[in-house]
Amino acid sequence: MPSNTRPALEQQDRDDPLAAFRDRFALPDGVIYLDGNSLGALPRATPARVAEVVAAEWGTGLIRSWNAAGWIDLPAQVAGRIATLIGAPTGSVAVGDSTSVNLFKLLGAALALRPDRRTILTEAGNFPTDSYIAQGLAALLAQGHSLHEAETDAILAALGPDVAVLLLTHVNYRTGAMHDMAALTAAAHAAGTLVLWDLAHSAGAVPVDLAGCEADFAVGCGYKFLNGGPGAPSFLFAAPRLHAALRFPITGWFGHAAPFAFDAVWRPADGIARAMAGTPPILSLAALEVGVALAQEAPMNLVREKALRLGSLFSELLAEHCGAFGFRVLTPADPALRGSQFSIAHSAAYPIMQALIAHGVIGDVRMPDILRFGLTPLTLRYTDIWDAVQVLRTVMADEVWRAPEYQVRQKVT
Ligand SMILES: *Cc1c(COP(=O)(O)O)cnc(C)c1O
Repeated sequence: MPSNTRPALEQQDRDDPLAAFRDRFALPDGVIYLDGNSLGALPRATPARVAEVVAAEWGTGLIRSWNAAGWIDLPAQVAGRIATLIGAPTGSVAVGDSTSVNLFKLLGAALALRPDRRTILTEAGNFPTDSYIAQGLAALLAQGHSLHEAETDAILAALGPDVAVLLLTHVNYRTGAMHDMAALTAAAHAAGTLVLWDLAHSAGAVPVDLAGCEADFAVGCGYKFLNGGPGAPSFLFAAPRLHAALRFPITGWFGHAAPFAFDAVWRPADGIARAMAGTPPILSLAALEVGVALAQEAPMNLVREKALRLGSLFSELLAEHCGAFGFRVLTPADPALRGSQFSIAHSAAYPIMQALIAHGVIGDVRMPDILRFGLTPLTLRYTDIWDAVQVLRTVMADEVWRAPEYQVRQKVT
């Protein structure tokens, strides 16, 4: 077991095969950024790329850039890159819209493939938008669909002949716990159920093999571990074997077989292109592509190994330096069950996090009591975890968090 002294961790940073990636990001001085699971850091190459698209492609090229600068092919190009990060075959991923909208599109298409079933099964405590979208879609369809939220250990038992779709988030946003995608997908399929995986905290963070798991559907987020910028376009995946039968509930002109034929009647495009809705957000896609390309350069086995080591280190240092302060670790200890974040609970989570942020350690809080720390191997050093835990120790030992300014609730936590 490595001894967790700061000099030992400095050596680990020097030996880190991913160390050079940190300099590819524009990180502010004096900040330890542990929130890349919520908003990924800014790649250094992004500002120049976006400026080029704005000034040259938009400003000078004007509408000609749809062809001349390849704007029209940009969504498929970014989708092809994302496919390589999630084990998806070429032509099975589309990029555009938000994760929430893509959930709506996929869930609508999935329910239509199981017309005799009325239950959408999800996990209690799933990310709220996933459940909200399911509730809204069920109400819109007005065919008696309902959402069943099973506790984590009761998901398998809740599969049954009425479950049309199992809607699960691969890595839990609160705890960082990770599901066994292959096993749950197989169990659902055995029950005749389609599975929709939310990869918001997985893409670019943990190994994902959608094809190997025979997954049906997936969505994911562009602004978390893919570093695409705030509100970056989301992606969706559907297994090629399902494409021909898919009918998405949004039938926009970009999903038409021939958008520029301006036909009177909607006809689906071949393949995953039929999932597209409207005109793609080119500025956002340009920024997203830079983040995704950077993620493609980093070997996933190294990313995964480092994320697990950062998590174990956080856990060990917390026990060693902050053991007296009443934190409860929520992230599973078993590496196979962990995503790429470290979560702890404390009744004073909110003011503790505000005090940490004021002292340069940025994580976030999920109410009522969870402190979340994203583990992003491309930007973090082992010594950052050491330094962050020392700040946490001071915040707790000196009761810094009790100051009145840290009790004030902001709109975004
Ligand atoms: C972040 C996140 C989303 C985000 O959805 P948006 O439509 O981009 O706001 C969805 N699902 C999960 C599980 C998330 O973590």
